[in-house]
Amino acid sequence: MVVETLSLSSSIKSNIVKLFLLLSASSNFVYAETTIFQGDILHFTADPAKTSKAYEYIENGGLIVKDGIIAEIISEEEISKKQRGAEIVDYRGKLILPGFIDSHIHYPQTGMIAAHGEQLLEWLKEYTFPTESKFSDKEHAKEVAEFFISQLLKNGTTSALVFGTVHPESVDALFEVAQRENMRLIAGKVLMDRNAPEYLQDTPESAYSDSKKLIERWHNKDRLSYAITPRFAPTSTPEQLKQAAKLLDEYPDVYMHTHVSENKDEINWVKSLFPEANSYLDVYNIYGLNRDHSVFAHGIYLDDQEMESMASVGSAIAFCPTSNLFLGSGLFPLNRAEEINVSVGLGTDVGAGTSFSMLETMDEAYKIIQLQKSIGNNTGVKTLSPLKAFYLATLGSAKALDIDDKVGSFEKGKEADFIVIDLKSTDLMKFRMKSARTLEEKLFALQVLGDDRAIHSTYIMGNRK
Ligand SMILES: [Zn+2]
Repeated sequence: MVVETLSLSSSIKSNIVKLFLLLSASSNFVYAETTIFQGDILHFTADPAKTSKAYEYIENGGLIVKDGIIAEIISEEEISKKQRGAEIVDYRGKLILPGFIDSHIHYPQTGMIAAHGEQLLEWLKEYTFPTESKFSDKEHAKEVAEFFISQLLKNGTTSALVFGTVHPESVDALFEVAQRENMRLIAGKVLMDRNAPEYLQDTPESAYSDSKKLIERWHNKDRLSYAITPRFAPTSTPEQLKQAAKLLDEYPDVYMHTHVSENKDEINWVKSLFPEANSYLDVYNIYGLNRDHSVFAHGIYLDDQEMESMASVGSAIAFCPTSNLFLGSGLFPLNRAEEINVSVGLGTDVGAGTSFSMLETMDEAYKIIQLQKSIGNNTGVKTLSPLKAFYLATLGSAKALDIDDKVGSFEKGKEADFIVIDLKSTDLMKFRMKSARTLEEKLFALQVLGDDRAIHSTYIMGNRK
């Protein structure tokens, strides 16, 4: 009897499901798998430095997500009409924003963040290289990758462009974790065949074959993409840079990710290693590495001609404020990059960067621009607006990484990677927000005072992490 009851009951259930699907398909009825996230919705549609109509802000609106994809943004009044059949998640009073996108970060350096006392080249020798040597051990790499990804998510970062180490295992470990979390992530193995300890060097041939294997294994698998990753010009021979370009020719939608013009000693070193080049960026031009889908971290000392060269091929700069201040590298000229129309994203550059938080990164970006007002003859420097800062951390970085057709805003059809922000996550923020009247005031207080505590929830393709 019990068995019969069960089978009858399951058959009734299956008929109900069929009836529901039929009804759903034949009307505008909202599907049960549709979720409406209710809160103050903000996203960018353009660069606020270029137009006054750069964003959409709907107080107490609804973000409709269907099967992990953005379906629509609706007003409060429309929510009640669309409510039938849809689950509503109530985030009223909180800010709903596209997930942050970190355009430059080193996951193997997570454990050496906050290493004292050196500028770039000594810092690499003293701290970075010994730390990275441990990533030949896959177990170690996996452990760090797990912590790294959990830190990204905790800080509301849903996508990133990430350095591995020279070891292919380091990239496998990171992609395995990112794939499990269904994240849109770009990463690659470091290429480095000179001017580094022997134990961290590859060769032009192994750089080519190891990268090729990793591309075949990971590129365009789920939401993952591969980046050919020479550390920077001084640690690759011309032969290795040629191999890197060969791979990019073979796989045109693979990324190129490296550093440029971060530090004055570094720039002089590049001059002595590549006397044939007119400038630092010219080294990458000569070897075919400055192209669409190329992302260069820092670019502090790029001249107009170098920036124009980047703008003309569609490559991008990752502006990494906490790292630039921490290593004493210099002040990135964001205004000039804007004028020349070179694409700029925002990056944490952990472990030279001092925080996983894109909020803290925006805070330091603001200070970098402020400092430029009092140094040299930069009287025309424009203050960094909070709108521009939040643009850089979302759509701006998505554009820099060429993933803005998929993420970075709430445009219909994009993947629903988003975050819910609590503007009152600390006593001080709560107190400060009382007198914040405009959206800009609230955003600015958030970027200056906020950290991972302000990230209430992080969603990857509509699923809460
Ligand atoms: Zn870096």
